[in-house]
Amino acid sequence: MTLTDSGEIPVDRSHQTTGVPGLYAIGDVVSGLNQISVAAGQAAVAALHAHSQLPFVSRR
Ligand SMILES: Cc1cc2nc3c(=O)[nH]c(=O)nc-3n(C[C@H](O)[C@H](O)[C@H](O)COP(=O)(O)OP(=O)(O)OC[C@H]3O[C@@H](n4cnc5c(N)ncnc54)[C@H](O)[C@@H]3O)c2cc1C
Repeated sequence: MTLTDSGEIPVDRSHQTTGVPGLYAIGDVVSGLNQISVAAGQAAVAALHAHSQLPFVSRR
């Protein structure tokens, strides 16, 4: 993976994906405001996207 000029992990902001399948990046390792609330919000976005990628398995 190639980091940005400022040494951060480049991500697609819509889902925090890195381009490496299954690998997300959030928080201080990506560019943006280095604040706890930002990291938590990005984590929620990444988690929801990861969940949406899981295969449906019937409980029956
Ligand atoms: C002095 C200071 C004051 C701050 N005050 C505030 C504030 O008042 N409000 C606010 O919103 N934000 C504040 N921040 C910023 C906030 O702490 C960060 O934005 C936030 O913690 C980022 O979360 P993160 O999960 O990305 O990284 P981190 O919280 O840094 O978590 C990264 C974790 O990864 C671990 N780690 C690192 N390398 C490895 C490795 N190789 N293997 C395994 N684990 C590893 C680290 O030990 C750490 O536990 C402050 C930051 C500092 C330094």
